[in-house]
Amino acid sequence: MKDLVGQVAEWALGASRTVVFTGAGMSTESGIPDFRSPRGVWDRFDPNEFTFQNFIGSEEGRRRYWELGRTVYPVVKRAEPNPGHHALVTLWRLGRLDCVITQNIDNLHQRAGLPAERVIELHGNATRARCLACERPYDRALIQDWLESGVVVPTCEPPCGGVIKPRTVMFGEAMPREETEEAERRARASDLFVVVGSSLVVYPAAHMPVHAKRAGARLVIVNRTPTPQDSEADLLIAGSSAAVLADIAERVASRLVST
Ligand code: NAD
Repeated sequence: MKDLVGQVAEWALGASRTVVFTGAGMSTESGIPDFRSPRGVWDRFDPNEFTFQNFIGSEEGRRRYWELGRTVYPVVKRAEPNPGHHALVTLWRLGRLDCVITQNIDNLHQRAGLPAERVIELHGNATRARCLACERPYDRALIQDWLESGVVVPTCEPPCGGVIKPRTVMFGEAMPREETEEAERRARASDLFVVVGSSLVVYPAAHMPVHAKRAGARLVIVNRTPTPQDSEADLLIAGSSAAVLADIAERVASRLVST
């Protein structure tokens, strides 16, 4: 069998700007379910209900949202970075990684040790929240304490009383402009673009590999199941994101040490 991992390691050694684009499949091995695999989140909840419009539109929409958020947040909070997250830190320390563009909201890239400025979060971060009226920031852990102690719909401290929203991008909500533009710039400037654990069906995030490929980058997709962009890829690896990234980082590291 062809040594696919070895080929990616070779490309990473030769590339001047490697960008890694991660999705929910990056964190399933940390215990956070993805959205589309069997037993994923949307097998149990209807995504049409948890939209930005429903959240903003009514107290009942917010109540339903926080009911779900209260059960999902502890899963994210408990999760630990897996060998894949650590492998990306290794690549960064070796000078072989420009940045990570992520669809994830779990903060695990930063917790593994990637500097925050190397992580471009397209869909926000579930560890933070903010008042939509006065913009006062809140730690999501504090909101969780409120929910656990019986608050049903958290609101900003008096006298504000505004709507508190987690700093994640909800369905139907625009992507953050600055992060999206930065991600597009980095994708176009990359010469190796590696997708890890994404179904590549959530747009506009899924445009990033297209930007990279059109600008001349090599495209690698590491995902357990097929994606709509597989035919564009220079190389596909249908394996575990944690195992594949750990293997790539190890080979890059050993080559750099031996030269
Ligand atoms: P997705 O759920 O649509 O797809 C995940 C993909 O990863 C699937 O194709 C699956 O086959 C693959 N996969 C799962 N585990 C894998 C593994 N261990 N190794 C390799 N591949 C694996 O996820 P998405 O494309 O990221 O889009 C879903 C949206 O949901 C994102 O926008 C994201 O914001 C959000 N989300 C985030 C988290 C998180 O922060 N961890 C979790 C669930 C959903």
